[in-house]
Amino acid sequence: MSVRTALITGASRGIGKACAETLAKAGYRVVLAARTLDKLEELASELRAEGGEAFAVSMDMASHESIAAAFSKAAKEFGRIDILVNNAGITKDGLAVRMKPLDWESVLATNLSGSFYAIQQVLQVMMRERWGRIVNISSVVGEKGNPGQANYVASKAGLIGLTKSLAMEVGSRNITVNAVAPGFIKTDMTHDLSEELQKKMVEATPLRRMGTAEEIAWAVKFLVSEEAAFITGHVLDVNGGIYM
Ligand code: NAP
Repeated sequence: MSVRTALITGASRGIGKACAETLAKAGYRVVLAARTLDKLEELASELRAEGGEAFAVSMDMASHESIAAAFSKAAKEFGRIDILVNNAGITKDGLAVRMKPLDWESVLATNLSGSFYAIQQVLQVMMRERWGRIVNISSVVGEKGNPGQANYVASKAGLIGLTKSLAMEVGSRNITVNAVAPGFIKTDMTHDLSEELQKKMVEATPLRRMGTAEEIAWAVKFLVSEEAAFITGHVLDVNGGIYM
């Protein structure tokens, strides 16, 4: 079997970076996408120095044009994309009563619409090849809700609906579509939360700690593997038990 190529969005740091490192180490060719190209280039050269194959491309998930351009660059470099990890995501928190339209729209555009447009870029080739893996990074809050995050939660719940519908549409072509729903994970996204909130989240987590980006990446590695060939439309909780 030829080497599979995985494109990971939001690969410049946090969970996306861990996914890129884990998949590269497992022998996949990786395309690293995010807005900040220099960080991606740095990671790509590290992965190449360790014997992996990596290509960095700038992609703004809030722009359909940018997504299309990035996929076309990636295809020129590495050919077809077999695996898509839709990981890029942002938060713009606030109470619904005061939420600005731009904060609603930008979160939905980046987290949900961007993921959908990225999926559209890979579907035809996956259908032709009769093999594909799509993993959408949702969130525990997309399953249970969270006050102050109506925009983010709507985007993450939307990803779960998208995952299930798409799994039904493309299953007959041997393409699996799954979601991973992380709990409270130590990355830049959670770094600035108040100490009090961090403590509260850890106390609410039966395993009594935050998760690591690598722990999410290992779940992604499993879902894209041959061993997970009969799993589709699933939401895999990696959350230390904070929601069951
Ligand atoms: P992070 O450290 O803030 O990293 C976010 C990544 O997304 C960065 O690589 C960022 O790169 C990229 N990104 C942001 N906006 C983008 C855009 N418009 N276009 C392209 N790339 C963009 O976040 P993280 O904690 O690793 O989160 C990764 C995913 O897991 C997100 O979808 C998040 O919602 C989800 N998640 C995280 C947690 C948690 O506790 N950390 C929990 C549940 C779910 P650039 O800024 O360079 O573009």
